[in-house]
Amino acid sequence: MSDKVAFITGASRGIGKACALELAKAGYNVVINYLGDEKLAQDTVKEIEAFGVQSGAYHFDVSNKEETAASMAKIIEKYGRIDVLVNNAGITRDGLFIRMTEENWDSVIDINLSSAFYVSNPVVKVMIKQRSGVIINMASIAGVYGNAGQANYSASKAGLIGFTKSLAKELGSRGIRVNAIAPGFINTEMTKNLDTSKIVEFIPLKKMGEAEDIAKTIRFLAEEGTYITGQVIGIDGGLVI
Ligand code: NAP
Repeated sequence: MSDKVAFITGASRGIGKACALELAKAGYNVVINYLGDEKLAQDTVKEIEAFGVQSGAYHFDVSNKEETAASMAKIIEKYGRIDVLVNNAGITRDGLFIRMTEENWDSVIDINLSSAFYVSNPVVKVMIKQRSGVIINMASIAGVYGNAGQANYSASKAGLIGFTKSLAKELGSRGIRVNAIAPGFINTEMTKNLDTSKIVEFIPLKKMGEAEDIAKTIRFLAEEGTYITGQVIGIDGGLVI
């Protein structure tokens, strides 16, 4: 049995789930977090375990400081180490800025950005003791280039990118690498209501991305990218060339 442990937020479905399965395939014990759907999360756990590694699903809201601290303490006590952390959980609450409610601003900033602080804080302490670790933050092209109708989302993802670069500088000497992924348009629940035929026209590769495209890069960063830190890796089919 492998002793490598990965922890991924928001991994009951979509990109988080694909990353969980890819890391399980690479021999990691993969612990997942979810918020809404217990059944989906338990199904993901079974799929992870089918790779012959350990898994567990932890229900908590990553934007809730107390819930997150309590759950992270349990996870760290049970598994003893965390080699890979993927801060993936995220939501959109899109709308033109002049009509954006404070609630939609706060929920996006809390779930997409403050969560990374709540989750990473206890994990970094463990990684410093290990003198090794890999942190990957799920940003977005919106965080690099902005997007009309997504002031809240773009701000949260740009914040994650600044967080990534600062942590990379702070933690490099401790053997910890920190990178961000900036996906373009990926086929998941998050994009299911978009008119993708129009979007695809602007993508040089002429297709939407799949969650597995992101997962393969996560695995590469975890296993192979040993001299890569502080980077924002665009996975967007060339959309923002
Ligand atoms: P998704 O299918 O909607 O999945 C989101 C995941 O986050 C779900 O597992 C959900 O759990 C979880 N989640 C949401 N709020 C949470 C909270 N407060 N606490 C804990 N978990 C929470 O979305 P996705 O497309 O896979 O997106 C994953 C990440 O990639 C997000 O950060 C997103 O911003 C980013 N991204 C996606 C795209 C895209 O095109 N899809 C592009 C750029 C960036 P439950 O279902 O259990 O609630």
